[in-house]
Amino acid sequence: MTAILEARGLHKRFGGLAAVADVDLAIEDGEIHCLIGPNGAGKSTLFKLLLGTYDPSAGRVMFQGVDVTRQKPFERVLHGMSIKMQVPSVFRDLPVSQNLVIALQRRLPRTGIEAEMRRLLALLELEEQAGKPAGELSHGQQQWLEIGMALALQPRLLLLDEPTAGMSTDETFRTGELIQRLNASGMTILVVEHDMAFIRQIAQRVTVLHLGRVFAQDSIDRIIADPRVAEIYLGKTDVD
Ligand code: ADP
Ligand code: MG
Repeated sequence: MTAILEARGLHKRFGGLAAVADVDLAIEDGEIHCLIGPNGAGKSTLFKLLLGTYDPSAGRVMFQGVDVTRQKPFERVLHGMSIKMQVPSVFRDLPVSQNLVIALQRRLPRTGIEAEMRRLLALLELEEQAGKPAGELSHGQQQWLEIGMALALQPRLLLLDEPTAGMSTDETFRTGELIQRLNASGMTILVVEHDMAFIRQIAQRVTVLHLGRVFAQDSIDRIIADPRVAEIYLGKTDVD
């Protein structure tokens, strides 16, 4: 396996606090990798370091073999890294289809847009909502549309920070199915998540962060069976 994204000795200090400390992490090409850990473990900080929203205090980020540590997020996106932002970025007054068209215009000539927009609507299971203003979609559907807009750039790697936050159980499950469809088509996906049922549904490999450091890294089955992992989720007898 080759790594599509690598963190090497990544470190981020906020004043006296090391939010992320000496993190080595390799996301393999083609996998669904989940980043988990208790509140305050450093997940969001690590995510922002990988994306380029934060500059590291030390260490490097490699993407497809290239050192991108000094690249801004938009440069990383141009090279095939894509994200669904947590803050909604859909155009609420415009139809779902038009939102996708706008995202696709950044990549495709006019003649290719309609077919690709239809393909994305089907992939996102939003065909019936195509003509609806995006602001009228359910919370979960809006999140899928956002994923669709990130997909418009045809990323090699998709980064998702808590993609199921605020979703119903059914929406969460369908988000898992969407992520698995994307992965089956060859996309590498890194997901930061809290919801253990969701992680069980999608994860292949899991990295557990604790106090800013990599605490464990293994297959989802071994992580679930690891009593040390259960222990760091304080007051809980199981990782969920
Ligand atoms: P997680 O996403 O795993 O809950 P975070 O990465 O948000 O963890 O936070 C890790 C630690 O860094 C926490 O102790 C948090 O309070 C601290 N932290 C996060 N962001 C900042 C910031 N911008 N300034 C200062 N401290 C921060
Ligand atoms: Mg967080």
